[in-house]
Amino acid sequence: MGSNSSDGLHVVMAASEAVPYAKTGGLADVVGALSTALAKLGHRVTLLLPGYRTLLAPKDRRVAAQFSVSVGGVAAGVSIEEEYVTVIGGLHQLRVLFVCHDPHFARPGLYQQDHHDYPDNLDRFTLFCRAVLQAVHVLVDREREKIDILHLHDWQTALCAVYLKALSLEHDSLRSIKTLLTVHNLGYQGIFPGHEFMKTGLPSSLFSLGGLEFYGAVNCLKGGIIFSDAVSTVSPTYAREILTAEYGCGLEGVLASRTSGVSGITNGIDEVMWDPRHDAYLPAQYHADDLSGKHVCKRELQRELGLPTLDVPLLAVIGRLTFQKGFDLLLDILPELMALDLQLVVLGTGDSHLEQQFLRAKESYPQTIGLTLGFNEALAHRIEAGSDMLIMPSRYEPCGLSQLYSLRYGTVPIVRRTGGLADTVTPFRPSTIKSGCATGFHFIDPSPDALLSAILLALHIYEERDVWRSLVTSGMNADLSWDQSARSYVGLYGRLREVEGENRRLPGIE
Ligand code: ADP
Repeated sequence: MGSNSSDGLHVVMAASEAVPYAKTGGLADVVGALSTALAKLGHRVTLLLPGYRTLLAPKDRRVAAQFSVSVGGVAAGVSIEEEYVTVIGGLHQLRVLFVCHDPHFARPGLYQQDHHDYPDNLDRFTLFCRAVLQAVHVLVDREREKIDILHLHDWQTALCAVYLKALSLEHDSLRSIKTLLTVHNLGYQGIFPGHEFMKTGLPSSLFSLGGLEFYGAVNCLKGGIIFSDAVSTVSPTYAREILTAEYGCGLEGVLASRTSGVSGITNGIDEVMWDPRHDAYLPAQYHADDLSGKHVCKRELQRELGLPTLDVPLLAVIGRLTFQKGFDLLLDILPELMALDLQLVVLGTGDSHLEQQFLRAKESYPQTIGLTLGFNEALAHRIEAGSDMLIMPSRYEPCGLSQLYSLRYGTVPIVRRTGGLADTVTPFRPSTIKSGCATGFHFIDPSPDALLSAILLALHIYEERDVWRSLVTSGMNADLSWDQSARSYVGLYGRLREVEGENRRLPGIE
C-alpha cells in the first residue's frame, strides 16, 4: 500500500486535563480517549499535561528536561516529567509529559477552589503554554524527533498556537508543525483584564482586533482561533451553531473569518471504561440481550440513595450545575413531575444557587429525589446503569458525553435538540421507531413546558414495554466508538500537513 500524508503521524496533544490523570468534565474524557485511539491506530502520541501533583499518585517518572520559561518577565523553573503508558490491547505506547511547576499546579483544584477561579489563571496557563512550546523545541532540536501536529484543546492551551507562530520565526525546525485547536466549549474563553496582557510576553501589537484583544480584555481562545492552522469542535451541529450570534459567545465573527472553516468531529466514548458488560463499579453487569443486571443496578441505586425500591420510572441528571446545562428548567417543573409516579436522581456540582435549589427540592421530596452534590465517578457509572431515563436540557451542548454513556447503558436520553445532543440521539418518531433507529427523545425550545412535554411523552412510551425495549436496545447497540472519530481527526491532520507554509508569521516574544 502506498503511503499517504496521514501515515505514521507524531501528534503532540496539549491539554489541561485528561483521563485518568485529572478531570473536571468531558474534556478529560475526550483527550484521554482520543490519545489512546490514535496510538492504537499506530500513530505516535505525546500528551502534555500540567503536573497537578495533588491529583497524581506518586509514580516513578523520569525527568526528561528542565528549563525556565518567562511569565510576565519573571523566570519560572519547570521540569518535564515523563511516563509511558501501554495502550490496552495493543503493542502501542502513549508518552505522557507532565509540566511541573509546583507553585502553579500543586493546588487542590484544577482551575478553582470553593467555586472561585484562581486569580492567577493567566499566569498558570501562560506558563503551561510556554513550557509546552519549550518541550516541543527540546524534542525536535535535541531529541531529533519529528512532530507533525500540535493538537490544542480549549483556552488553556490556545496560546500555544500563538507562541508556535512566534517561535518558528527563530527556529526553522518548528515551522513544519501544524496546529489544530479543538474547542470543547465556546462558553469558556480564558478572558482576563487587559492590563494582564504583558504576562503573555507577546508583542503589544497583538493586543489588537486582529489578535487577543476582546472588548478591552485579553481573550486566550480568540488568539488560538486566529493563529491555529485549523479549528475544530466536537460535533457537526455545534460547528454550525457557533457561527451564529446565538451560540458564538461573541466569537462568531472571528470563527466565520477563518477561511478553512470549523470542522465538527463527534466524540466517541471510552468503551473500556464505559461498558455495562464489564463495569466494575456496578453491582451487576448486563448487555443488550439480557437486561436482568440493569434491574439489579436500579434496585441497588435506589437503596444507595435512600429511595424506596419501587418499580417506577427512574429519571437521572448528571452534570455540572450551570446555566448551560439547563437544569433550572427541570427545577421549574418539579411540582408537576413530583405529582407523577416516578423517582429522580441527581448527581452534580456547580453554581451554589442551583445546588441550594436542589437541596431544597430534596428536603421537600425526600422519598422521591436522590441527591448527591459533588463529583463522584463511581456513582456516575451506577446512575447511568440504574436509571431508566437521563435528562439533558442543555441550552447549548458542544457534544455531551453523559447521553452517550446513557445510550451504552440502556438509559434513554431526553435531550434538547442542540449541538452534539442533536447529532447523537435519534428522536422518537413513528418513522424512527419503525426503522429501529430511535434512541431517545428531543425537545426544541429551552423552556420548562417543552421539557415537560418531552418527559411526559417518554413516560407514556415507557409503559409500552416493547417499544421502550426497542429504544433501549437501539441505543445500546449504537456505534459510539472512538475509531471513527479518531480516523476523522487523522484525516484532518493529514489535510493540514498538506497545506504548504504558515498562514501567519509573528514577531518574537519576550
Ligand atoms: P461537560 O464536559 O460540559 O461537563 P459532558 O457531558 O461532555 O459535559 O461530560 C461530562 C462528564 O463529566 C461525563 O463523563 C460525566 O459523567 C462527568 N460528570 C459530570 N458531573 C459529574 C459529577 N458530579 N460526578 C461524576 N461525574 C460527573
